[in-house]
Amino acid sequence: MKTSFILSAADSIRDAILDHESELESLDRAIGDGDHYINMKRGAAAITELHTELATLNADAALNKIGLKLLSTIGGASGPLLASFFMSMAKVLKEKNDDAITTYAAAFAAGVAAVQLRGKAALGEKTMLDVLIPVAQQFSALAASDSNIKAICQALTHTAEEGMLATKALIATKGRAAGLGERAIGHIDPGAKSCQLMINAVCKQVLANQP
Ligand code: ADP
Ligand code: MG
Repeated sequence: MKTSFILSAADSIRDAILDHESELESLDRAIGDGDHYINMKRGAAAITELHTELATLNADAALNKIGLKLLSTIGGASGPLLASFFMSMAKVLKEKNDDAITTYAAAFAAGVAAVQLRGKAALGEKTMLDVLIPVAQQFSALAASDSNIKAICQALTHTAEEGMLATKALIATKGRAAGLGERAIGHIDPGAKSCQLMINAVCKQVLANQP
């Protein structure tokens, strides 16, 4: 992975978050404490400020630095979870040190496993993991079956959207919304929405770079 790709993906993620201000804010206001948009915006801005420094690093070191920065700038539950994601992804990229799609899938899966470990949550608990887990599983399966990058991006974009929408019908058993019981039903989880936006933005960036 090239560091220049990480930087342009980070810009796309920031733009996607900024474009969805009212949606992210109202989702967290409905079933959380209303700060999720601000948290994500703060994280995205901190990464933008790091661009010059990140550009001097290898991809794995840049992702690790992004994780550390998110840990120190995003408050709330989502900060440490996203930090774990990027830092674990960086570790796999460093170890494997190649550009195989299976390496990217393994790095993504390691990131998701780290979120699970830190958040002690599983599929179906109305969190960001309802997007991340199915996407990681599909990414690994498609990479292993030699699917092309375009087909993979299209499939992952679709799966992320399905996972995000599926949180609407769920009761939360982790995070702030866990105290709401059935009142959480009918609202999409804010962290699931922001992860779907991030996956969509990165996939779009990958597709734009395809011949
Ligand atoms: P906070 O909940 O501290 O206000 P945010 O509003 O930034 O933090 O993030 C809330 C999101 O974090 C939730 O919508 C959910 O997706 C995610 N989340 C919360 N707890 C967990 C957990 N234990 N595991 C995975 N994701 C979680
Ligand atoms: Mg919140």
